[in-house]
Amino acid sequence: MSDQTVKSVNPATEVLIEEFSPFTEPMIDSAIAKSDDCFKEWRKTSFEHRAELMNKAADVLDQNAERYARQMTAEMGKPLAQARAEVEKCGWVCRHYAQHAEEYLSDEPMESGGQKAYVRHLPLGPVLAVMPWNFPFWQVFRFAAPTLMAGNTGLLKHASNVWRSALNIEEVFHEAGFPEGCFQTLLIGSSAVEGIIEDSRVKAVTLTGSGPAGQSVAATAGKQLKPSLLELGGSDAFIVMPSADIETALDTAVKARTQNNGQSCIAAKRFFVHADIFDAFKEGFEARFEALTVGAPMSDETDIGPLATGQIRDELAEQVEKSKRAGAKAFHAGAGLPEKGYWFDPAILYDAPDGSPSAEEEMFGPVANVWKVDSLEDAIARANRSIYGLGSVIFTQDEDEMDMAIDHLEAGATFINTMTASDPRLPFGGIKQSGYGRELSADGIKAFVNRKTVYLA
Ligand code: NAP
Repeated sequence: MSDQTVKSVNPATEVLIEEFSPFTEPMIDSAIAKSDDCFKEWRKTSFEHRAELMNKAADVLDQNAERYARQMTAEMGKPLAQARAEVEKCGWVCRHYAQHAEEYLSDEPMESGGQKAYVRHLPLGPVLAVMPWNFPFWQVFRFAAPTLMAGNTGLLKHASNVWRSALNIEEVFHEAGFPEGCFQTLLIGSSAVEGIIEDSRVKAVTLTGSGPAGQSVAATAGKQLKPSLLELGGSDAFIVMPSADIETALDTAVKARTQNNGQSCIAAKRFFVHADIFDAFKEGFEARFEALTVGAPMSDETDIGPLATGQIRDELAEQVEKSKRAGAKAFHAGAGLPEKGYWFDPAILYDAPDGSPSAEEEMFGPVANVWKVDSLEDAIARANRSIYGLGSVIFTQDEDEMDMAIDHLEAGATFINTMTASDPRLPFGGIKQSGYGRELSADGIKAFVNRKTVYLA
């Protein structure tokens, strides 16, 4: 272990929870060696055997859900009820791939001039996952469940503020009976990532996180000619048209913006509301923001906890101030925040001009940016001005408007009359600077396999 410890601090209280010693170079090397050794045997195991272990992993999650959820909430501040739901969802993705991996990866017959031809899916080897803190369990399981079921092994480099969760996830696979080296947590900082991608035993890398981290990882993977998958930031549009069920649209808008303390890549961050219903939307939106309970994340009464770190809180405050200086009109919920902790008063910013952080940047916290629009064309044009393209939402009862949104919104997903959500059965991912590649569903398990063409003359 190195001398430099990494501190885990409770964002609600600023109290130190625990300290961790990062891995040394020899420890990293030994973990990669174990991953590589394990792969040689793991790749030969049957889907049935892997599924048995993956279903056990889901059971371990269920059995320890309360502890894992509490430790997650202590580390990064999400409301406890949401942490519990997150652990439960991880069980779902494990069971989903236990049940469907074999079918997703079955041979694909092809027409050819020979006796037969088909594609067979074969694992690649150790895959490195660089993961963020905002959904400390879910982000990892949506990578690990398909990747291990495909016959690969996994190495996790988790965000430096959620290392207890990182160790808990390793415990899940250990307790479930996965062989040594099949899934390992590396307690390392971001500077160690490059060397691991460069290691010839590591065959691919996936990163969920910010644009700069994605650029760095993709550049290294590119130099090594290794596959990479990037799930990056977003500033999703949420469009409300006159035919929408306004009460449902409002309830959904508030949840879509404030869930996970507003720190979700697929949170709705920019709202485009048609002029005909704008006043009603504004009134309902502000009333709902005022009614939000900001407070102790362990309490079941809490809607919004603290932001995960002081730096994130300060950056968001600066984005809001800059947007106001640029001309945005602000509504603050006036939450009455505790003194200690990384709290943020939920806010709505109206009519921020192009070029301001509201319009251009991802805002990672409970701040909604709202604009009045005259038409769907106007809404779509503004929505598409973003550098991001992750999710998108439209509320309308008009089928032509639905079609127009589906065809023209530049995003990896369009959800209609509900909020964008990840689901093990549906592909998940973005375009533009939100990244490339898809997780979940059949796409997710095919992300890290060799689609080998077989031809019999
Ligand atoms: P981040 O700073 O990019 O960190 C994410 C991970 O990357 C952490 O493990 C971090 O390690 C590591 N990292 C940072 N810089 C790196 C570098 N230069 N080379 C290698 N690794 C590096 O992002 P974050 O602030 O934790 O997460 C929030 C971002 O993630 C938001 O933009 C959000 O939208 C995005 N996100 C996207 C999705 C999606 O599915 N598209 C889902 C969730 C979150 P350290 O912690 O040690 O620095």
